[in-house]
Amino acid sequence: MIARVSLEIALRREFDYVIPPELAGQVDVGSRVQVPFGPRRILGVVTAMAEESGQANLKAIVKIIGGQTLVTPKVLQLARWIGNYYCCAPETALKSVLPEAVRGEDAGWRERLSVRRLPVTGDFPKLPKRQQAVWKIIEERGEIRLAELIELAGTTAATVRKLEDCSLIEITSEVSERDPYAREQILPSQPLVLNPSQAAALAQITRAMGETGVPRDRRETRWPDPSPGTSALAAPPANPAGSQGPRTGSRFDPKTFLLFGVTGSGKTEIYLQAIAQALEQGKGAIVLVPEIALTPQTVERFKARFSSGKLQTLVAVLHSHLSAGERHDEWHKIRQGRARIVIGARSAIFAPVEPLGLIVVDEEHEHTYKQEEAPRYNARDVAVMRGQLENAVVVLGSATPSMESYYNCRRGKFTLLEMPQRVDDQKMPLVRVVDMRQTRRDGKGPPIFSPQLKEAITQRLERKEQTILFLNRRGYSSSLLCEKCGHVCGCPNCSVALTYHRPEQVLRCHVCGHHERVPPACPNEKCKNPGIRYSGLGTQKVEEVLGKLFPAARIRRMDADVMKRKDDYRRVLGEFRAGRIDILIGTQMIAKGLHFPNVTLVGIIFADMALHLPDFRAGERTFQLLTQVSGRAGRGDVEGEVFVQAFTPFHPAIQYARRHDFVGFYEQEMEFREQLKYPPAGRAALLTLKGRNEDKVKFSAEHVKRLVAAGAPGTKSGSATTAAGSETSRAIADLIIAGPAPAPLLRAENQYRYQILLRTRAMSRLSQLLAQITTGLTLPDDVTLAVDIDPVDLG
Ligand code: ADP
Ligand code: ZN
Repeated sequence: MIARVSLEIALRREFDYVIPPELAGQVDVGSRVQVPFGPRRILGVVTAMAEESGQANLKAIVKIIGGQTLVTPKVLQLARWIGNYYCCAPETALKSVLPEAVRGEDAGWRERLSVRRLPVTGDFPKLPKRQQAVWKIIEERGEIRLAELIELAGTTAATVRKLEDCSLIEITSEVSERDPYAREQILPSQPLVLNPSQAAALAQITRAMGETGVPRDRRETRWPDPSPGTSALAAPPANPAGSQGPRTGSRFDPKTFLLFGVTGSGKTEIYLQAIAQALEQGKGAIVLVPEIALTPQTVERFKARFSSGKLQTLVAVLHSHLSAGERHDEWHKIRQGRARIVIGARSAIFAPVEPLGLIVVDEEHEHTYKQEEAPRYNARDVAVMRGQLENAVVVLGSATPSMESYYNCRRGKFTLLEMPQRVDDQKMPLVRVVDMRQTRRDGKGPPIFSPQLKEAITQRLERKEQTILFLNRRGYSSSLLCEKCGHVCGCPNCSVALTYHRPEQVLRCHVCGHHERVPPACPNEKCKNPGIRYSGLGTQKVEEVLGKLFPAARIRRMDADVMKRKDDYRRVLGEFRAGRIDILIGTQMIAKGLHFPNVTLVGIIFADMALHLPDFRAGERTFQLLTQVSGRAGRGDVEGEVFVQAFTPFHPAIQYARRHDFVGFYEQEMEFREQLKYPPAGRAALLTLKGRNEDKVKFSAEHVKRLVAAGAPGTKSGSATTAAGSETSRAIADLIIAGPAPAPLLRAENQYRYQILLRTRAMSRLSQLLAQITTGLTLPDDVTLAVDIDPVDLG
């Protein structure tokens, strides 16, 4: 037999190897192997088996890594799809489905050596003194770990081995599993009695789980069959599969749910009960959570439910804080089928759960699900794809769904499940928007605290309640904002804020390249304020000012600068929970699902800062952030209050967040996206060219743009060039090419970056075209091109 191997070096091709007699029967599709390649030995994965090969002089596989096959057939299929769809080398895609700790040549279980006394046969040998001392301990204990013995007797392994030579003892090795949660005592939990909206949601999910295995053609289908018509091609990111059903071999209806439930509506309880259902059916489950939410408390909720009872199973955890050894062991527990539930961050979507019944993606709107290096996949979208391949049910949960997922519900691709009320019937907090244009500034820079917020903080300090102050530093001072009228300088072509480049005193649109000089005064006719320029501000400044205003308050700051270590984060939260901090100041870090019953006030300092980022998702992000942060207030018996300080208080993202009105926000935002064909109305791909020499980068970007335009004749173009259309070619008729333009961060790590933003509804065709272009492309030596399909960060 011949094994076809995909090697770790990205060559975009596979190589055949002979299976040597000593490995016969052990190599199969999905095996991780080491093979000779030129003078080197490298690692790869077997992707196919064949009787014979077209290649001559085949070499033999050297060894197998990890015993059994590591990549399951479905995961292999998933990797192929990722390579195609995200436009990366198949080797790169395949590499990402196995964690480093499992891929390595010497990845393995940790072995522990034990020493055991043997029955003495015949005469007892005469031992030197040192060995006698060792023997005495062994005689007493009967069995002891080698490491412990060496320490106790103050001896060496060599001395102990001498006893083995005399047949007095035997030294055996056994696998010792590294369990990152071994020291935690977890009390079992029982399923809760669901409230009516939870019960309704769970019923729909479990019904779909019951249906798994029913082929599409025997059931009524609600959506159109995949066809090159607009409806199918318009399928948003999650559904490249939807538009390519036949090619991916998926013969089943997607069973994807969007569980849209406010914070505290009991989504996690639904996940738990749905997982129980999967276990009942003899299947496993994968639960994805954002890295930052992967706290011991989260893991404990899952372990507590499944650590006892008749469905008892191991819960494996995969995340970046584990040691390589722990990760290896957790992964293999899954592969061996001993752990049937996996909780993890992004890459856990590739966990070898088999058979797979359910995938949960919690906080599905989170941008951390997108990997920012090749393969640039979005774990949420991969989850939907994997669900289809494995015929598993997928549940995407969020209190602030992404535009993409809600759009998919509207189009009938996903099923919407809603839980608008908190379990404890707590009212949503009262949100007050403060117009900062009315606040008098004291000193230089924009005002930080409105009188209203100051007053509210004073009250909380008197009542011994806690306050969280939130500052969104992202986007600060990258755009030009008039503090008097709130005007932000935007691009006339792209509806995104212009980026302020201080050294050259210009405003630039990073989408289309439009640029203009910094205006001497506010361009708003009614304002004309000359003080439009901005000065810097961060959490540190807020802390300083706050300390002066409230000298007696216990204030702590929590941002990436202060929280260098994981422990710092946990410690500060612990102190806050224990009531030893009155006011907590933070960035994004504190916006995520933390529950503090004594927090009755949340202040958002510059709520609209992120609105002016040069990113079409700026409004969506702000809406999500405000909603999530507001959710921090009033979880106890006291109603919460939220102050949103903004210079543009009437911006829809702020107004809809104030009213907790997601659907309202979605609808108005969708109008803007439709107009400019931004996702989810269309799909986007971002091409970034990088290099040390700006001229070369710019030139290369122009070159790539011409190639794209030539490959998709008849396209609309953001600036001048438009290639002549050809009737016969398979044009991507709706392609919009914007740029090349300097990236918002033009120069990073000594490299200049230029971007081209492509928009179309026909993403699969665009992916193909881009793959074609990138494989045949020759760029100057030090210029690189990165292709990002469905980008989430336009920076
Ligand atoms: P979410 O994940 O939507 O934020 P959770 O599942 O964490 O919500 O639920 C919030 C709180 O309500 C948790 O303490 C949970 O134990 C509790 N809870 C959830 N469902 C129920 C229920 N049916 N009955 C009583 N308490 C519940
Ligand atoms: Zn523009």
